[in-house]
Amino acid sequence: MSVVVISNRVAQAKPDEPVAGGLAAALLPMVRESGAVWVGSSGHAADAAQSKHAFAKIEALGAGALATVDIPAQHYLGFYEGFANSALWPALHSRADLIRVTADDYSSYREVNAFMARALLRFDKPDAAFWVQDYHFLTLGAELRRLGVDRPIGFFLHTPWADRRTMAAVPHHADFVREMLAYDLIGFQTVEDRQHFEDYLQAELGLMPVDGSIATEWGWTQLATFPIGIDVDEFAARATKAMTRPDVARLRASLQGEKLVLGVDRLDYSKGLLNRVRAFDRLLDLQPALKRKVALLQVAVPSRGNIHAYRELKAELAALVTEVNGRHGEVDWTPIRYLNKGFSQLTLAGFYRTAQVGLVTPLHDGMNLVAKEYVAAQNPLDPGVLVLSSFAGAAKELDAALLVNPHNTDEMAGEIARALAMSLEERRERWQRMVVKLSRASVRNWFGDFLHTLTAVRRAPAIPPQVLDLDQRRAARR
Ligand code: UDP
Repeated sequence: MSVVVISNRVAQAKPDEPVAGGLAAALLPMVRESGAVWVGSSGHAADAAQSKHAFAKIEALGAGALATVDIPAQHYLGFYEGFANSALWPALHSRADLIRVTADDYSSYREVNAFMARALLRFDKPDAAFWVQDYHFLTLGAELRRLGVDRPIGFFLHTPWADRRTMAAVPHHADFVREMLAYDLIGFQTVEDRQHFEDYLQAELGLMPVDGSIATEWGWTQLATFPIGIDVDEFAARATKAMTRPDVARLRASLQGEKLVLGVDRLDYSKGLLNRVRAFDRLLDLQPALKRKVALLQVAVPSRGNIHAYRELKAELAALVTEVNGRHGEVDWTPIRYLNKGFSQLTLAGFYRTAQVGLVTPLHDGMNLVAKEYVAAQNPLDPGVLVLSSFAGAAKELDAALLVNPHNTDEMAGEIARALAMSLEERRERWQRMVVKLSRASVRNWFGDFLHTLTAVRRAPAIPPQVLDLDQRRAARR
């Protein structure tokens, strides 16, 4: 099988740079190992004449390849900053109040999906399977089918799928969800996301999935759950290696016996950064004895800075950090170290291992790989404690973390204090339970399981759905 993976951006292969989010972090090693072709936007826009010749560059990536496409300039902003990140992203993360789009944005979104489908024809071989990643390309499968592509086509959503009322707030929702049903397989991070999608289909489109499978004029679509994982051994090895890296060594030297609480996030409203800083502030109010004994390092990597909601968050967060530091700080002590830049995963692994507490408190998150990486990077003999939002997909597996409600400032402050004071025995016991689960559900399993299910689903007989009663439908799926 020749696997073609499609995502909006493809990752740069440089080991010394930050990766651009969880999707890239997961796919990069998988493409390298599996020999897949990974197709995505180059990040550059092409004018109308150039965009007829879709591929900017194809280069080797381990056993696989990386192919980049210049997206037509007249549609890129409407597609990326518009419909994808100012309608879909806020809604998928339960922030319908932040939706800001025009009808033109949706046209651009559809145009870019259709453009990408045409570009992909180059890879349409008899043994090809197409695997589309994430919310930028909800309608790409339907466009491929319209072009006559008759291969397995799967889709995986890295974000949550919000409750049906929130999703129904997105302009054109029924249109793009109907298009999504051209996929043979739709994968979600958690059972809850899949359930929300099923609720949406029933309430908004009158479609009733049976055993997670649904029949439409496109044929069958299987809905399933594939929680994304990480390579635990690799991260653990990185963490040991990273201790001598300059940034890690300087961080350790600067602590002088202080304990470290660490947050690592893109600067995104879904990550709950304001609430987190308020919780740390509350902790210092409630337990002034912790001053000089604990510091918060918050890495907040700038993201989508052209979008108003992100610029506003950046300003608000900077003001809040300054205010908290101003109130609790001393001439020789600053409680919050706040950084607007990214680090390589190797350096991050060293930060994770240095921190006694990993603070991962999104308001809503598909999975959150930082939570998993933090656990994997710990010293087994003296592990740190993960304080994790129960609204992150990762909380389903990492239930031995200290789970918190990120809207409850007092509870978060209390759980950070509990983490700082936790006995070695309890820390080891909780860490052990988490690391066992993470090792079982690796990124390799995620990649393999999805593709295996995709090819199995595609082989199922295509019997016209309307002639089947429920039992026949079930039999047809076997
Ligand atoms: N990351 C990185 N450098 C940074 C911050 C983050 O390489 O400075 C990586 C991190 O290791 C993780 C990914 O970016 O693999 C973030 O994934 P996550 O699922 O936590 O969040 P997302 O950004 O996808 O919403």
